[in-house]
Amino acid sequence: MKGKIGVTTENIFPVIKQFLYSDHEIFLRELVANAVDASQKMKALASTGDFKGETGDIQVRIELDEDKKVLKVIDRGIGMTEEEVDKYINQIAFSSAGEFLEKYKDQIGSIIGHFGLGFYSAFMVSEKVTIDTLSWKEGAKAVRWSCDGSPEYKIEDSDKTDRGTEITLYLDSDSAEYANKGKIASLLQKYCRFMPVPVIFGKEQEWKDGKYVDTDKDKVINDVEPLWTKAPSELKDEDYLGFYKALYPMKEDPMFWIHLNVDYPFQLTGILYFPKIKQRMAIEKNNIQLFCNQMFVTDHVDNIVPDFLTLLHGVIDSPDIPLNVSRSYLQSDTNVKKISGYITKKVADRLEEIFKDERKSLESKWDNIKLFIEYGMLSDEKFGERGLKFALLKNTDGKFFSIDEYKKAVEGEQTDKEKKVVMLYATDLEGQYTFIEAAKNKGYDVLHMDCELDSHFVNLLEHKLGDIRFARVDSDAVENLIVKEEKIRPEMNEEQRYDLENLFKAVLPQGKDYYVTGDNLGEDAEPILITQGEFMRRYREMSALGGGMNFYGELPESYNITVNMQNPLVAKIMEAEKAEVAPQAPLPAEAPDSATDEEKTKAREAREAVRRAHKADIEAFASKNEILHQIADLALLANGMLKGKALSDFIARSRKVVTDAYLK
Ligand code: ADP
Repeated sequence: MKGKIGVTTENIFPVIKQFLYSDHEIFLRELVANAVDASQKMKALASTGDFKGETGDIQVRIELDEDKKVLKVIDRGIGMTEEEVDKYINQIAFSSAGEFLEKYKDQIGSIIGHFGLGFYSAFMVSEKVTIDTLSWKEGAKAVRWSCDGSPEYKIEDSDKTDRGTEITLYLDSDSAEYANKGKIASLLQKYCRFMPVPVIFGKEQEWKDGKYVDTDKDKVINDVEPLWTKAPSELKDEDYLGFYKALYPMKEDPMFWIHLNVDYPFQLTGILYFPKIKQRMAIEKNNIQLFCNQMFVTDHVDNIVPDFLTLLHGVIDSPDIPLNVSRSYLQSDTNVKKISGYITKKVADRLEEIFKDERKSLESKWDNIKLFIEYGMLSDEKFGERGLKFALLKNTDGKFFSIDEYKKAVEGEQTDKEKKVVMLYATDLEGQYTFIEAAKNKGYDVLHMDCELDSHFVNLLEHKLGDIRFARVDSDAVENLIVKEEKIRPEMNEEQRYDLENLFKAVLPQGKDYYVTGDNLGEDAEPILITQGEFMRRYREMSALGGGMNFYGELPESYNITVNMQNPLVAKIMEAEKAEVAPQAPLPAEAPDSATDEEKTKAREAREAVRRAHKADIEAFASKNEILHQIADLALLANGMLKGKALSDFIARSRKVVTDAYLK
């Protein structure tokens, strides 16, 4: 019997080949999936008693003749009668192919590349396909269907004697790569590794007489009962760790895992692992594999789970994620939204549980998962709320606190006059050592925050909690970090302030902005402190990480120079300055409005000249004053800012100052 396939497109196969070029390899998954389906239906018939005979071993067998370029997928499933072949293959499979092409003609390239293309995907790689099939039904006759890629097919008798279906692909010349055992083995590993019916390809091998040889034993390439299908109560830690190793042989052990299992309102199972994350740069996404009833679908789950969860590893299996739709549609799909929300909730639940029951373990692993948690809290509103409970803070002594615990621990000492609890933190234990010590000596606690996202993270916490404020230990003199009552600043007039500013700017490295202020920090405190204001610095860092704050990133680096007017060295320098530098001469009058432009310019220049002359006097004084240089350099040194020539000048000057002091 001959017939014409019911498709509108005159010749559909070249179209299939052309459009779906990049995804040719999925033909194998589609054919094996059909075979697995038919096998499971057979098992079901046997278990309900509808089928009373012997089912035999229900397996799927893949056979390849590399020379003849013939690939077979053979199952012992339910098979098809002639009527069924006509209905399912000629009418449904092929007409849905036509419909599919009609519908997606314009956007086919952007469509998700891995959905049920079904049986006709065989034509992506074959010049001819035959189906030999014998139905399980009593008295059924074996039939052979064949088609060479034209819209015409042929149905005839088949000599097939055992139940099931045998699909034979005569690979075309463009698809010679599939006539290779290694290639087929790797595709089976990729797509069929966890399919629920044994899939056999080739024989187990053994080492004999110096080489590997085939044994008689069939090689089953899949694990029909992968870990995620089992009940969590039956599983031990080793099982989860072993499964992780099988999925990611090259990776270090994961930190924690979550076994997902839900029936309603959608079906989803899976296991998600928290990998060891140390650096944002080292993060790999696309390590979650998506399955549909144990059939591999994709490892790009970015539209299915929230972005931060793509940092996790593992598997998700759900028949409820629509696969035959475009990616943009996927995000708005209500099922997908529910699934995504569910997974986020489960991850938060699990972390809360670990926080409560395995606190020590959480602490020991914190450094390796905090980036994930901070990223999650920053990028997902709901997770952000939940995280406030289980996120940990670590102080510079390595002690851990929950956010609540920490607030309680420090609020006594560290509440400022605005009633905000000030949380001090350091990002670099070595570099900020002096500041950390100063804070501790004052009875404060200092947090250690060295995560790349911390500047964003502290912002989030301030925003969420409201009554706290973060300040890096080196953002101000320790006396000013937590202002408990208004304190009296030194009194200075305009001119004194001007002199102070220019005096210190003269001895600091050029090319940066300095805000010089006088302050009373006590006789014993440092003469000069160099700090970077908390907000400017934080916003600069946030802008460097990206986050829409580019304005801050473009500003020059600026420092606050706090001069301790009560320090005896400073007091002496200021006295000497007053004695040696003549006060600024009175400024010439400004030109009246009625003056010509030329006269105005002249007057302005005259005033400028007086200012410049005075500034030059200050700079001349500064350049001669070794102690001024010395105290400025010491402050730079304490901040790790003294480098190159400035450092070598400092060393030479120090030697001279010491020699002068001791030997003269
Ligand atoms: P889908 O699998 O999405 O239904 P296909 O084009 O792959 O679409 O297959 C169409 C139909 O052909 C199947 O639904 C099934 O009824 C039948 N079929 C395909 N392969 C087999 C097989 N190996 N054994 C029995 N029936 C099959």
